[in-house]
Amino acid sequence: MSVNRITVQNLTHTYGTRCALDNVSFTVPRGEIFCLLGPNGSGKTTLFNILSTLMPPTSGNVNILGHDLGINARAIRKLLGIVFQHPGLDVKLTVTENLRHHGHLYGLKGKSLKLRIFELLERFGISDRSHDLVEKLSGGLQRRVEIAKAMLHSPQVLLLDEPSSGLDVGVRRQLSEYMISLAETENIIILLTTHLMDEAELCNRVGILDIGKMVALGTPDELKAQIGGDVVLIETTNGEVLRNAIADRFEVLPILTENYLHVECERGHEFVRDVVAAFPDEIQTVRFGKPTLEDVFIKLTGNPFV
Ligand code: ADP
Ligand code: MG
Repeated sequence: MSVNRITVQNLTHTYGTRCALDNVSFTVPRGEIFCLLGPNGSGKTTLFNILSTLMPPTSGNVNILGHDLGINARAIRKLLGIVFQHPGLDVKLTVTENLRHHGHLYGLKGKSLKLRIFELLERFGISDRSHDLVEKLSGGLQRRVEIAKAMLHSPQVLLLDEPSSGLDVGVRRQLSEYMISLAETENIIILLTTHLMDEAELCNRVGILDIGKMVALGTPDELKAQIGGDVVLIETTNGEVLRNAIADRFEVLPILTENYLHVECERGHEFVRDVVAAFPDEIQTVRFGKPTLEDVFIKLTGNPFV
């Protein structure tokens, strides 16, 4: 197995009779930001916990930079920086104190620890807050401190479970930019989970999980290219009837999720005009645009992304 990649093969995990991961396989090379995108309950945290060595899988193989998870979890643990979904900072301590304590846990001390903390605070743009209590920082800044903390011992792989949930869009984008530069300059692997499309969009490759199965894998552009043309979203209170009527009249196959019909078509603007003219009373609103990763999910699973 390569020392330059994570290889996951036929990974399956069950809790009792519930199958949380179903035969999942993928690889991630060094330098890449890889995203596991999936709705609530799709198996993201389960996969994250297995990769973090917190939990052995029911079956399948994981190899991280040449080390087999089933054989040498200890060696793997040293290579990992881990950011859990739930905040892991002591909010009553300052930023620097949090980092220093964590450094001590990893056997870092003295000048080299001081230097590494300084370097990370600079890199994450939080030097000027280093002596502030963590509780005084915004959610976005706290997230940056957590990532800096996870990077202290210079891990080769950074694992993050939903790093930007709870943050607003602008702050999320900023956080992603920090991670992109980190993956590039340190040549590490960043593997993160998310249920947020905008976060997934910024990653190099995305694996889409649905009820434990990986239903798609590729760059965001490759995934969206699976949808030919535009996506038209029609809001209606008469979903099933309208779906059948539209399918009869136009050469399209709408997918119904709750009160919305999703229609994939080549010339969206013409379709919008024609469908509104044909069913003026059944349509509440119409939106059309280029496909998103959410559209890809809906197309592949037939389910809304919730
Ligand atoms: P996600 O992180 O994508 O929300 P999880 O990995 O937490 O998904 O959960 C995947 C599935 O496994 C869900 O159906 C969830 O209810 C179930 N599950 C997760 N943890 C446990 C557990 N400790 N015991 C039983 N079922 C669990
Ligand atoms: Mg989760």
